[in-house]
Amino acid sequence: MNKKLTYTKKNFYKESTEEQINAAFEYCKGYAEYLDGSKTEREAVKYSIALAEANGYKPYSFGMEIKAGDKYYYNNRSRCLFLFRVGSEDINNGIRILASHIDSPRLDFKQMPIYEDGGFCFAKTRYYGGVRKYQWVALPLALHGVIVKKDGSVVDVKIGDDDNDPIFYINDLLPHLAQEQSQKTLATAIPAESLNILLGSRPIADGEDGKAIKMNILTLINEKYGVEEEDFLSADIFVVPAGGARDVGFDRSLMSAYGHDDKVCAYPSLTALFESDDSEHTVMVVLADKEEIGSDGNTGMKSELFTDIMQSICAGLGGNYFAMKANSKCLSADVTACFDPNFSECYDQKNVTRINCGVAMSKYTGHGGKSGTNDAPAEYVAWIRKIMADHGVIWQTGDMGRNDLGGGGTVAKYIAEHNIETVDLGVPVISMHAPYEVVSKVDVYCAHKAFLAFCMA
Ligand code: MN
Ligand code: MN
Repeated sequence: MNKKLTYTKKNFYKESTEEQINAAFEYCKGYAEYLDGSKTEREAVKYSIALAEANGYKPYSFGMEIKAGDKYYYNNRSRCLFLFRVGSEDINNGIRILASHIDSPRLDFKQMPIYEDGGFCFAKTRYYGGVRKYQWVALPLALHGVIVKKDGSVVDVKIGDDDNDPIFYINDLLPHLAQEQSQKTLATAIPAESLNILLGSRPIADGEDGKAIKMNILTLINEKYGVEEEDFLSADIFVVPAGGARDVGFDRSLMSAYGHDDKVCAYPSLTALFESDDSEHTVMVVLADKEEIGSDGNTGMKSELFTDIMQSICAGLGGNYFAMKANSKCLSADVTACFDPNFSECYDQKNVTRINCGVAMSKYTGHGGKSGTNDAPAEYVAWIRKIMADHGVIWQTGDMGRNDLGGGGTVAKYIAEHNIETVDLGVPVISMHAPYEVVSKVDVYCAHKAFLAFCMA
């Protein structure tokens, strides 16, 4: 058979030199640090601003004069970040946009979380995003977030990740007493209202029965953070897995961490932006919040802030906004499901992403008959193919799962609806949305290479 007529995916290890493989592993050290410093969207914004400032980026405000070569970031309420570098080409030729998200599935404290029951003190939670509840019990957990007092002062909370910190915990039933629970489905065996965070068990001296343990916890919280129970009314306290990113396997080819979805695309978007100073294009990186709950709200991708900033850049350069938008191009940089041979029946094996075969394009996402998706047109996919080939990027395509099994969405459709060409390109993930997800180091590196090619091409 004429080999040129057929197409097969390429495996990074088979296509690359020892040097390139080492470069990929080295790149992921920076990514591991980013993960550990960015467990929540607020932390990701802080960390990303520090990286941006080190690369010459300055705060942007509406109405500023801008010119080619300028580098700006716009901090949207400490939970969402826009970065852009002004290129030398005519702004009417459009902007190159890399859009990823920095929120990840987790458990949030309710507004009146703390209570005492059965000799323990707990905190009530509301789950955030697509959480499989059974995965969150009997695990070491950490608390990250802020408590904002009535006077507006912000108290940072970050406890459970340092080796000297206590961790937090959600109880599970012992197998000896689980006969009834074991008959239930995975979705119902752990009810959402039982995802209560264990805070302690020691009563305050001379305390009233039934209240003394909670009183002791409130006292300790007050000593540590200077807040009272009422201050939890205005708090964003997130429960996340304790511990940092780790190498997986004897060959260290894989990485486990909380929140690969979608920091594994956010970080390569940043590194691609910082490495593409020579590009003539105006490039924007969006690190959105709220993707895991539908991209709503003023820090989500549906916020008009995105088009406000686009318009403001256009006005600053004297462009035509409609032309600029129509000629802009976007990579919706988000993760997709990696083929897992332990659940092979869940995939169309002819159309699934494979580990170590590079960054993955999803032409469409959505459910059923392509509902709820921006199905990228063939013309745009062909353009991406060309820049990947020109820059020697290992990449692949793949559907999220087999037809009619389920599905998912990304920010792609919210950007495409502004008349901007958009397609999903991101890193394949094993155990997506689990407390610890797994990715391939070389696939992360391919995302960086692909995003860099997109910024330069
Ligand atoms: Mn995602
Ligand atoms: Mn997700």
